[in-house]
Amino acid sequence: MSIRLGNSCGNCENLVESNVCKVHGVKVGSSYTCDSFEMKVALKDKENCVSCARYETSDCANPQKAAPGMSCAHWAPLSASA
Ligand code: SF4
Ligand code: SF4
Repeated sequence: MSIRLGNSCGNCENLVESNVCKVHGVKVGSSYTCDSFEMKVALKDKENCVSCARYETSDCANPQKAAPGMSCAHWAPLSASA
């Protein structure tokens, strides 16, 4: 299974104050994830190839189509923060 960057706790709707997960009730970090992950709605406004960690790298899923203003399901954040 490939390593995924886009669905960490830092980008999850269930992360609340003090880095606590409201689903599990424990502190989590940006390197964690789980099956209850829900992408933060606010982050979706920033999703485009320029803000994607895979842009102009060999990890880009659509290197022939990647461009500013475009995005795809393989978008990944430049850095995950919690
Ligand atoms: S543990 Fe799961 S549900 Fe909780 S913040 Fe992380 S990804 Fe979201
Ligand atoms: S095409 Fe997809 S993977 Fe490639 S840079 Fe754009 S959003 Fe990222």
